[in-house]
Parts: sequence; structure tokens; C-alpha cells
Amino acid sequence: MPELPEVETVRRMLDESVRGLTIRSVALSGHRLREPIPATLPRRLRGRTIERVERTAKYLLIGLDRDLTILSHLGMSGRWLVLSPGQRLTLPHVHARIRFTDGTGLWFQDVRRFGLLRLVPTADLGRDPALARLGPDPVAEPPTGAGLRAVARGSRMAVKTFLMDQRRIAGLGNIYASEVLHRAGLDPRRHAGGLAPGEWEAVAAEIRAVLAEAIAGMGTTFSTYRTVWGEPGRYGESLRVYDRANEPCHRCGTPIRRIVQGQRSTFYCPSCQGGRSGPRRARAPRTPATRRAR
Ligand SMILES: [Zn+2]
Repeated sequence: MPELPEVETVRRMLDESVRGLTIRSVALSGHRLREPIPATLPRRLRGRTIERVERTAKYLLIGLDRDLTILSHLGMSGRWLVLSPGQRLTLPHVHARIRFTDGTGLWFQDVRRFGLLRLVPTADLGRDPALARLGPDPVAEPPTGAGLRAVARGSRMAVKTFLMDQRRIAGLGNIYASEVLHRAGLDPRRHAGGLAPGEWEAVAAEIRAVLAEAIAGMGTTFSTYRTVWGEPGRYGESLRVYDRANEPCHRCGTPIRRIVQGQRSTFYCPSCQGGRSGPRRARAPRTPATRRAR
């Protein structure tokens, strides 16, 4: 599932490739996504110009002139694809085809249809239920140890699950929560409310570092995520624990363990992340991991 770095990569590329373009036509597949795509979408978008492409957590906000925003979420498998003028492409599962007046195309493809395309008056974005319940975006508002600790006070939730709770901090998912905890040297099963101040400082620092590195690497591709030009993200080779069950920890050689927390896989090193004796900073050498293809 795309997380913040993947969505930020898409945002940057859309901002470069379609900002300033005016919509000539939109065609819909007629299939519903997480919720139905409004049937009025083609009529409401026609003639409008894309003025900005923004992101909050894992949501893309494609801002148009005259107070309208396309609020979009990639869900499990959604992709925005940019087609050059004249480019011909045959693809299944394309649910919206936007054509600009200069011939450029912008398609939304979603095999599993958990994605979202919603039209919201720009002035009302702050009240949209999808955005209103989100915690702070960790790129827009880089987390601090004290800030995370205050939010976690008294929480019996496992720290891995806590980091994925979009109401507390919005944008981390299964991949980056696992990576952050390995780098911070923390057992993912510990209660969030029980971490020491220094441990929260390590978590905050690693959230900032992992997100910056993953955005620089254009995100991680596991199954369907691609950039708007169809390229896979490059960050997968930098992952230290995610999807590496039974492979040796880059830092200590112990086999990486996979457990299930909140119906999601967690990957961690029982040696580097085993102790409760305070933070141990897992600074792995930067050797590229060999990854299973899947
Ligand atoms: Zn280890």
C-alpha cells in the first residue's frame, strides 16, 4: 500500500507535469471505487485549470481554479499516470481519463478499487471528514520526541500500531513503521505509553530520516505502486527489515522475524530490537539488501 513517500513522489511528479494545464474532457469507467466517483465529475472538471498539487498524509489534493479540489487517495493499488500528447496506451482498470487541452492525459488506474476520487470545494477542505480526523503530517510538521510522547501518554497500544494510527501521526504505514522501529532499536510490541523520553527522541529522528530518504528514493515498490511515468520506486533496496523475514539483519546477522499486529505484518530483529534497557541505535551499514521478488 502506498505510504507518505510514495504519495509525495506522485505529488511532485504531478506538480511538474500537469500543473497549469486545462482540462478538455474526462471519461469515467462507471465502476465505483471506495465510494462512487461522482457522475457529475466530467462536467464539473471541464474547462478548469490545475493550479496546484498538494498532499496531506496519504491524500493528494489536486487544486483547480474556481474553488474546486480533487481529493484523491491511492488506497491499496491506485495509480495516477501521465500520458504524453499522442501517447497511446491500453490498460485495464482505468477509472478516470482526464484529457488536457494540450493533448496530455492523466489517468487514474486502480485494480482493487480501494482508491478515492472526490470533488470538494477548496474552501471546505478543512471540514472534509477524510482530512479532519488526520493527525499531523510528519513532513509538513516534523515530529519531536516530546510531541510524540505527549500524544502517546498512557497508551497501551503497541508502538508499531501507534505509529500507523493516522489520527496520531498521518502518513506512516506498515513499511515505514517497521523500518523506523528497527532503526530506533525498539521492540515493536512495547506499549507506546511506556517509551522513555530518549526512545521517543530516537523514534522522531528516525521518522524524519526514513521519510526523507524514502522520498529521495521515490518510494518503495512492492506490487502496484509506480511513479506517474510508470517507474518503480528505488527505496526497496534500502529496507532493513520490511518483507525480509528469515533473512539476516544487516546490523547483527540475526534472522529477521515476522509477527502479526493488528492484522498487519511487522518485521523486526529480535536481537537489535529485543531489549528494554533503553534505546539502542541500530545504524546499519548501507549495503543494499537482496530482496525477494514478488
Ligand atoms: Zn539485528
